[in-house]
Amino acid sequence: ALTIGIVGLPNVGKSTLFNALTRNQVLAANYPFATIEPNVGVVSLPDPRLGQLAGIFNSDRILPATVSFVDIAGIVKGASEGEGLGNQFLANIREAQAIAQVVRVFDDPDVVHVEGRVDPRSDIETIHMELILADLQTIEKALPRVEKEVKNKKRDAAELAALQAAQKVLERGDTITSAVQSDKLDIDGLKELNLLTAKPFIYVFNADEGVLGDPEKQAELRELVAPADCIFLDAKLEADLVELSEEEAREMLEMNGQDESGLDQLARVGFHTLGLQTYLTAGPKEARAWTIHQGDTAPQAAGVIHSDFQRGFIKAEVVHFDDLISAGSMNEAKARGKVRIEGKDYVMADGDVVEFRFNV
Ligand code: GDP
Repeated sequence: ALTIGIVGLPNVGKSTLFNALTRNQVLAANYPFATIEPNVGVVSLPDPRLGQLAGIFNSDRILPATVSFVDIAGIVKGASEGEGLGNQFLANIREAQAIAQVVRVFDDPDVVHVEGRVDPRSDIETIHMELILADLQTIEKALPRVEKEVKNKKRDAAELAALQAAQKVLERGDTITSAVQSDKLDIDGLKELNLLTAKPFIYVFNADEGVLGDPEKQAELRELVAPADCIFLDAKLEADLVELSEEEAREMLEMNGQDESGLDQLARVGFHTLGLQTYLTAGPKEARAWTIHQGDTAPQAAGVIHSDFQRGFIKAEVVHFDDLISAGSMNEAKARGKVRIEGKDYVMADGDVVEFRFNV
């Protein structure tokens, strides 16, 4: 499943956001992975389509797609030094597919800023620098081993070259993602090191009403992190929202100039940044959403349910959610010719409702 690591300076609102995101869990209480570790929260993605599907199929339960969030202690300047302490807690986010950096843009004299002033540009640079230094340590540690393996012909020389090129990029203070094109970095050759700055970044600006109601200020901040995706939310407001009913929460968001909760935004932007989409399955037991990549074929999508489904794939019965809903039932959708039989080359579309046929 999609895992997002949360990073940022201390006191920017990471824990507030993490708690708000992961307390939003009422619906998913019986989800197979409840709690894993104290700093890992599994969050279901709100998906109104599932309720409608469950209505048509009389499903007993609804299983939304999930996103895991990993929260780490705040990163301060020098975190990557200190006897590898920094690196040790950064290890918690190595497995994440994306990194969400929480950046403080709210003004509050009662909340101390570690560096004494609210300065998003400099905060972002501080965090980048610490992640860059952590990646440099990772590469420096790996180099002797990789050099030896190349010498012993156990490894392709190109992999060593990829590491050295990445090292150069980091040494000049750039992230791997920002240099992939300019430096023609071999991202695949770097995969096994799980470098932090090679992951896609999402910036979460933790804002107050001032910024939430100021499109110009937002455009400025957007510009600061482009081409990366960013979202604007108020972590404190998000924490209050989880106490409210759905309707009250929507009203509260509207009053604050937001049309979507932070979780919805983060899920949407996370999916976009990582090129993900969902497809749906439904029956009397459950209505369920599954996470796949854009461009995945039907057998690849089946493989997300079970590797046997991918191996033994025969065909898929596919109806688009919108067609199914306007037909009102599977039989009517069939009568209207909206249910297709697709083969192994079929490229999945977001919102496909699917039943796979396979050999075991
Ligand atoms: P962390 O160190 O990054 O995890 O930050 P916390 O989540 O612990 O927040 C630090 C302090 O900032 C707490 O007192 C929060 O209540 C406060 N805080 C967090 N988000 C906001 C916000 O959006 N607005 C305001 N005014 N305070 C916030």
